[in-house]
Parts: sequence; C-alpha cells; structure tokens
Amino acid sequence: MTGEKKPEWADPNHPENFSSIVRKGVENPSSDVFEKKQVRFKKKGSNVPNIDELYNGILAGERLHLARAITLIESNAEHHFRKAQELLQRLLPHTGKALRIGITGVPGAGKSTFIEAFGSFLTNQGLKVAVLAVDPSSNISGGSILGDKTRMEQLSRNPKAFIRPSPSSGKLGGVHRKTRETMLICEAAGFDVILVETVGVGQSEVIVREMVDFFMLLVLTGAGDELQGMKKGIMELADGVIVNKADGENKRNAEKTKREYNQVLHFLQPATKGWATKALTCSALLNEGIENVWTTVKTFENTTMESGVFEDRRRTQTKEWMRSMIIDQLQADFFYHPIVKELLPRFENEVISGSKTVTSAVESLFQNYFKSKQ
Ligand code: GDP
Repeated sequence: MTGEKKPEWADPNHPENFSSIVRKGVENPSSDVFEKKQVRFKKKGSNVPNIDELYNGILAGERLHLARAITLIESNAEHHFRKAQELLQRLLPHTGKALRIGITGVPGAGKSTFIEAFGSFLTNQGLKVAVLAVDPSSNISGGSILGDKTRMEQLSRNPKAFIRPSPSSGKLGGVHRKTRETMLICEAAGFDVILVETVGVGQSEVIVREMVDFFMLLVLTGAGDELQGMKKGIMELADGVIVNKADGENKRNAEKTKREYNQVLHFLQPATKGWATKALTCSALLNEGIENVWTTVKTFENTTMESGVFEDRRRTQTKEWMRSMIIDQLQADFFYHPIVKELLPRFENEVISGSKTVTSAVESLFQNYFKSKQ
C-alpha cells in the first residue's frame, strides 16, 4: 500500500522480520469523516458488531459492512464465530447467485496480472467482481505468497470490485470454511462473479476446486517439460487451461503450447462431466484473449446448467463442505481438549521409546477423552 513504511527502529537490512508498519496519516480529516468513523457500529462495551446492521448493510451492498462481516468470519474468537454464524444463517437465502471461478498457477504465471485484466473486463461488462484468495503459505509460515506484494492496483480502486486477501486458519475451521463463508457473504452483497485465487502448490488447489464452479489453471509456455510429470494431477482438476504471456516473441510458442495442452487434455479425465477441458492463450499484460476466456466460462456455465451438472456439483460441494467441517470440529475438539493436551505428549514419548504400541496409546487417549466428556 502506498504511504506505508516500516518504523524507524526496524532493522533496515531485514525489514521483513518486523511486522509492524507505519501508515501515512490523513493530514486534514474533515469533521464529516471523523464523525462517521465514530458512529459506525458503536455499541458500548462490545466489539461485536450489530447483526441487524450488518445484515441490512450487506444486502444494500455496503462495502464497509461487507468488510466488517468478513472480519467477523475470519476471527478465531468463539463469540465472533457464533455471531458470524447467526449472520450467515440470515443471509443464506440471498446467496448462491454468483458464478464462482477458481484460478491457480505457479508464482509468476501471471495470476494477479490476469485477475486485474479479467476483473476489469468483467466490471466493464457491468458485473460486480469479488476476489478472494486461499494462500497455503499463510498457514505454515505466517507469511504469505499472495498477499505481500502490491497486487491488482487498478482493480483494488475499482468501485465494482472487492479484493480480500487470504484468511489465516484457526481452531474454528481453517481457511476452507472462512473462504467459503466469505464467498457466501459476497454473494449476498450482490457480487456477480467471485474469483478465488490460489498458488499452484500443494493442497490448496483441491480446496479451491471444491468451492468453485469453474476452475482455471494459468500456465506458461514450455508445456512439454511440465507435462512430463507434475501438471497432470492439477490438469485433471481444471475446466480451462490458460497459456498466459502469449505476446511478443512468445506468441508463437504460446500457440504451440496450447496445442500441446489440448492434445494431452484429450487423454485425461475431464474435471467436469460433459465438458471437454480446453486450452486457450491470452496476454494478461496486453489484455488480449481475455474476452475469449470469459466466453469459454459462460459456455461452460450454460452447458453444465442445461445438463444439471452445475447444480449437482454445488449440492455435492455443500455436502463435502459439511463433512469437512465436521472433521475440522472433531479434530479441534479432540486436540484442544485438556485431557488430550495433557496425555498426548506423554503417550507420544512412550510410543517412541517402545514402551507402548501406537494402537494402545490411541485407544487409551480416546477412552480418557470420552470418559471426561460424560
Ligand atoms: P503471479 O505470481 O502468478 O501473480 O504473477 P504476476 O501477475 O505477478 O506476474 C509475474 C510477472 O509476469 C510480472 O512481471 C508480470 O508483469 C508478468 N506478466 C504477467 N502476465 C503477463 C503477460 O500476459 N505477458 C507478459 N509479457 N508478461 C506478463
């Protein structure tokens, strides 16, 4: 963000070790701004916003309320979690109308440039676009691959667009729950297209695939090498493979890569029943081929809606979501339980030293856990 810097006492050689930032202040805040700030969500003695106010604000498409509701969803505090669930329950009838699109690709494939171009194209068509992110790195390192650089500057200033960085996980369900619920809130706020971005590493593609209608993989030229091994699994999740950076000297190469992908895709299991996954080219930088991507997504939507696959997938996704939440909650309940916290390290040591078998340790843990619940 412009106007942000590290405080002067941070080590200038390693500013990344210091997480605080200093923001540039407002030089002459008008009394109007000041007053508005003070009155919003004012509720003495409580930092939980008023649910009625959020509900009405979100349905009216108010950004501030939307952002506030998402913060509530992302909070790891139990009372925020309950409030967020109450809000979601009320908003549920207003959800489900957006087209949900997942976008993945290795770092450098051009995801943010593409989202900037694609998002701007969509807003020019009069559509409202929300961009969410699932960043696997934020769980592991506390840092983030997606969030740290200045990204999508144009789109972030666009009044028809809303960009939200990746939430971090926590004990009340991980990134999966938070992103799905954020998506629902954005739908209630009237967004027509939800773009869910993720980095092409590890599990996060599968998580995103499970929450979107159309999943696209952004790739670079040189498919030959990649197709040897790594991409096959991801390609079987994709409804569209977009060869980006098809410009300048790279254009011919990109066309060749597209043909190679199309040949390979032909032999793979399609991600969506009744839809042959296609490879396309585009230049996110020069805004070329972007409309073609949208046409493909719309054709996909029409085809799968007609066949019933679209609704089928959404139903399955909701069921899967419920199951994964049950697993999340069971896990959290178990591992955060005081008796488990106390016994687990001891049992682990006993297992490692060979004085207890894994099976008997697990059995004994569960016995203690269930006994303490009675
Ligand atoms: P991300 O890490 O996947 O989000 O990739 P970025 O959007 O940050 O892009 C990585 C680099 O590739 C940047 O320097 C972009 O300017 C460049 N880039 C992205 N799209 C294109 C494109 O269509 N053509 C060319 N020539 N460069 C691009």
